[in-house]
Amino acid sequence: MQLLEDRARRIDRDLLEAIQQVSQRLGYRVYLVGGAPRDLVLSGRLGDFDLVVEGEGEEFARALAEVLGGTARMHSRFGTAELKGLGERLDIATARTECYGSPAALPEVEPSPLTEDLLRRDFSVNTLAIELGEGPPYEVLDTCHALEDMKNGRLRVLHDDSFTDDPTRILRGIRFESRLGLRLDDAAERMARAAVADGAFDALSGDRLRREVFRLLEPVGSIESRLSRLGELGLLSILNPGLRLSGEDLIWIGRAATELEGLPPDTAEVEGWRLVFPVLYGSLDKRAGEETADRLSIRPEDRDWLLGSRRDLDHAIEVLRRPSSKPHEIDRVLRPLRREQIALLLALGDPPVVQWTRRWLQELRSLSLTLTGQELVDAGCAPGPSIGRALVATREARLDGSITAEGELQFALSELKSESRKAGRE
Ligand code: ATP
Repeated sequence: MQLLEDRARRIDRDLLEAIQQVSQRLGYRVYLVGGAPRDLVLSGRLGDFDLVVEGEGEEFARALAEVLGGTARMHSRFGTAELKGLGERLDIATARTECYGSPAALPEVEPSPLTEDLLRRDFSVNTLAIELGEGPPYEVLDTCHALEDMKNGRLRVLHDDSFTDDPTRILRGIRFESRLGLRLDDAAERMARAAVADGAFDALSGDRLRREVFRLLEPVGSIESRLSRLGELGLLSILNPGLRLSGEDLIWIGRAATELEGLPPDTAEVEGWRLVFPVLYGSLDKRAGEETADRLSIRPEDRDWLLGSRRDLDHAIEVLRRPSSKPHEIDRVLRPLRREQIALLLALGDPPVVQWTRRWLQELRSLSLTLTGQELVDAGCAPGPSIGRALVATREARLDGSITAEGELQFALSELKSESRKAGRE
């Protein structure tokens, strides 16, 4: 316990003083709960900050934001608030109980003492609380035997209906297994299997399912172990009954996650689900693919990508394997792919696929012309889309090595000439 109290002192001093000042002024008790005390115990690392207030959470959040100079965003329905602009994320909630009107629905909430708030949580390891408002010695509350469960490496649920009330907890459990090195205990695993078999996920909204599945697939730690647990607990069939993931697929994804770490940074953020779904979609036909996208309420801007992700990958593989392929054809198939798909190609272990992909990354991808559209206009060409087409054709000729940088202008001009000749004939 002393260790935990010592670690609690690592919390930013200004933040701690502000919390104490507001808590004493309003006469509310305030606790650090959930992930932060858990991670302090398990790893000494301090992650996101979740505060629970015995009192008016929103009032506390507003007052704290004022002292710290940030802004508070309220979610009144749940009595929660988010403080922004302070460097780290700070979530503040009114201590509350939850009542589930129907399985997998969002709960009705009511203010309560902290001890009851802790009982509504997913796993015992997330029930530790450290009182911050009074200053040292930062009393640690362990009302649900969390420390003992941590010592024994187990994830224990707090009541038998936990997964039926909220099946996303099963997905969270798999995430915690992988991240914290704990394991669902026998009872929790039995309850998880029973909840899945009883259709606990049927009433869960696509948005909540997607959010939790995508979070589970973030490319940190061993993505294979999380995926194989998903399969083991029957959760792939929640997304689509036809989904299959073979041992080879798992190895492919695992290798791709490693390849991904070595790829040069890109403007788009890496997203683990984009590594996994092109592989999963190998087991689905078009209709099942669409149903899966519907079940996950995939955002409209991602839907086309998802539905075509496996087809585009397979097409690229086919072109990369073709002995007659030229560099410009390789560029055409690889350029539209996301980094996650490129990592999958590298992880395939097929020599022509890997060699072409590496060559594209190191050399072809970055080839840019010295010639500009303005130079073509200056040379007397009419501005318009034909200039763009000529530049693309010129770049492809450079990729294939059929012209050098010095020959770009002449090549582009002859492209434009032959295009206008063709147009004249039509
Ligand atoms: P991470 O470090 O991965 O963010 P976390 O435990 O902080 O883990 P959050 O999703 O930020 O996860 O949730 C904060 C706390 O809220 C959890 O520790 C847990 O006590 C509680 N919680 C979150 N989601 C649920 C849920 N579905 N059911 C019950 N309690 C939950």
